[in-house]
Amino acid sequence: MKPNPHGADQLAAVLCCYRGALASRMGSPSDSAHAHSPTNRPEWREFRTVLAGLRDRCPPALPVVIRTSWLPETILGQCLRRDKRFVVQLNRDLVEPQAVEVLCHEWAHALAWNFSLDRLAKTPGINPVEFDRACHDEAWGCAYSRVWRAYLELG
Ligand SMILES: [Zn+2]
Repeated sequence: MKPNPHGADQLAAVLCCYRGALASRMGSPSDSAHAHSPTNRPEWREFRTVLAGLRDRCPPALPVVIRTSWLPETILGQCLRRDKRFVVQLNRDLVEPQAVEVLCHEWAHALAWNFSLDRLAKTPGINPVEFDRACHDEAWGCAYSRVWRAYLELG
């Protein structure tokens, strides 16, 4: 996660990474190497169901675009704040159950995003640890709880 100062569309863009716990359980490389959107994977039915459920029950303030991307293996996903949308990137090596879990984590970032994070993200020389802590504050925790309940209710 780091402030991203490059490009007009990215003036307000910030990366928030989700790394660590799942990395050691990473699946084998996907056979859908050219699928840029997980929704293009016909076998990912649960993922599509969860995504539709989140869009319906937990809509963030801006639209959310989902992509699979080449990411370092320690970065399972990230939520990018653009001017008029969020982009959730999922590591392309995730298997479906992991992708669902990471989607829920990142969706909560889109849901909990606020002006103070925008301001913090634009602060020159922001400490990545401080920003990471701010991204996973109580507001994010509440959003994650809401996402998790919605996920369970999809049952
Ligand atoms: Zn996160």
